[in-house]
Amino acid sequence: MQTPLKSNKPTTGTNLEHARLHNRRVVLEAIRQAGRLTRADLTRITSLTAQTISNIVAELLDESKLSAHAPEKIARGQPPVPLSINPDGGYSIGFHVEQHQIVAVLLDLKGVTRGRRVFSVSYPTFAEALPVLMKGVETFRRKVAADRLLGIGIALPGPFGVEGMSAVGPTGMPGWDDPQSLASLRKMAGLPVLMENDATAAAMGERLYGIAGGFKDFAYLFVGHGLGAGLYLDNRLYSGHWRNAGEIGHIIMTPNGKPCYCSKQGCIERYVSGASLLEHMGIKADRNLSDLDLSERKYAAGIKRWLAEAAPALRHAVGLLESLLDPETILVGGTLSNDILGRLIEQTLPLFPSVSVRAERAHARLQLGTAGPDCVALGAAALVVLAELSPDYQALLKA
Ligand SMILES: [Zn+2]
Repeated sequence: MQTPLKSNKPTTGTNLEHARLHNRRVVLEAIRQAGRLTRADLTRITSLTAQTISNIVAELLDESKLSAHAPEKIARGQPPVPLSINPDGGYSIGFHVEQHQIVAVLLDLKGVTRGRRVFSVSYPTFAEALPVLMKGVETFRRKVAADRLLGIGIALPGPFGVEGMSAVGPTGMPGWDDPQSLASLRKMAGLPVLMENDATAAAMGERLYGIAGGFKDFAYLFVGHGLGAGLYLDNRLYSGHWRNAGEIGHIIMTPNGKPCYCSKQGCIERYVSGASLLEHMGIKADRNLSDLDLSERKYAAGIKRWLAEAAPALRHAVGLLESLLDPETILVGGTLSNDILGRLIEQTLPLFPSVSVRAERAHARLQLGTAGPDCVALGAAALVVLAELSPDYQALLKA
């Protein structure tokens, strides 16, 4: 991912094809949000002309992206036909690539999970993972009409394309930020491919499937093997110029603290991450945490030591994110169990005073995400579906 997502070209006027695609997404998004709408509803909501709505709806019905339902009964005139998104009108595949496993999900156009596979891996390079990814694609291709697959979303730990930092240590994933990698998967699968960091995909997963349903501004702290933040701001994901927004793992939280793989000292990821938890339990940081039953007594003391060290670091991170972003809330999730993350949040409280302290808060400043372990894979797949549905996401997905 060395190419910046946003070009430096001057803002240009819209052309007809661009406008047509935009209007399609406006229509799809309006129906997605409302559940069912008639052509008259669409004309009113979107401010497009009746003729434009009629053309777009005809096109979407033809592509089976919409379903038409029995007309509503009215006294006279043409009865209005309610339209809804056809879940089988398109599918997307989401991969959550981690150091030790790849979770694959198949999502339909309504965002319902239609298939799931988990593959064991060990710090795979892209070349090593390619056959696994293709196995996932082929499994899902057999389940649905192949021409209805919209694309593939891959989420994995960042940062991307940062010299000397992207692939170092047990929290990195070497060899994934080469643009050629995506191109080869795109060619083999014959589908569009997008890549996003795990925390950003998790924020989208949480927005669609978890507690963040109605939130317009939140940060999602993803505690995986490393640490990252997904930023959902002003009702859309914020990825940054080089897709590394929210890569807070290597912010120095403790000057002259623990040495980090990135050559600095005291990075927050050295305190708040699955890798640091492993170290506190006396286990090598590149081991798979999911292989361990952390409720076993032999791990209790290590977990306790980790919490005592992680909580103050997390408290600082929360203060930083609140001051920078003024979010409605900050969510915590990741690959650690809810039990451990819940204890981490508990121990992080009380938080420091910040701009987020106010009487009229509807939500806690820091809370646990609820979208579950497939949050990242679902978010990655949802980004592909949203590229089809939502006008807000077209800019995001032009990689
Ligand atoms: Zn570091």
